Amino acid sequence: MLNLIIFGGPGSGKGTQSKLLAEKFQLTHLSTGDLLRAEMEKGSELGRIAKSFTDGGNLVPDEMIVKILASAIDEHKNANGYIFDGFPRTVAQAEVFDDMLKARAQKLDALFDLVTPDEVLIERMLFRAQTSGRADDNPETIKKRVEIYHQQTAPVLDFYKARSMYTAIDGTLSIEGTAQAIADEVAKLL
Ligand code: AMP
Repeated sequence: MLNLIIFGGPGSGKGTQSKLLAEKFQLTHLSTGDLLRAEMEKGSELGRIAKSFTDGGNLVPDEMIVKILASAIDEHKNANGYIFDGFPRTVAQAEVFDDMLKARAQKLDALFDLVTPDEVLIERMLFRAQTSGRADDNPETIKKRVEIYHQQTAPVLDFYKARSMYTAIDGTLSIEGTAQAIADEVAKLL
């Protein structure tokens, strides 16, 4: 069992790196952003509520995200381990997450922080906006998401630093370079 968090600002490459890592180590990739987008595509009540937050670059309320993630974990009960991508994004989520995992006889092994300067995040998201079709990939919302990352999400790092689970990864390397840096760290855990 290997349970990892892939952490970083919007546009840091969390989704791309999580997919590569999931394949390499046969883990289940759970992205709260993807789970929300699936609900929005279905047009469910939950998706409609989520959209009112995500479209403006705001975070979806903690209780809603925690519920979605808990059911996604339970849907993949027999996984070898999980990669959590885009969660936790607030200190409150990190606190609940601990209990959520304990209740399932699981624990986290590490958090990998894709350290990437704001200019690089913004540049990458503007580039992605040309093809992603995401309603939240527009210049105004992109700026807001970076601000919210610093205000609400970055403080989560202290929570994991205090538990000695934090590892910084250079998020400015090529996709392959960053993937290798993460794989080298995962190898140390095995
Ligand atoms: P992402 O695909 O991870 O960039 O997430 C897209 C959007 O979904 C974010 O900008 C938030 O509005 C919302 N979201 C994703 N994960 C979370 C989370 N853990 N807590 C709150 N909102 C989230």
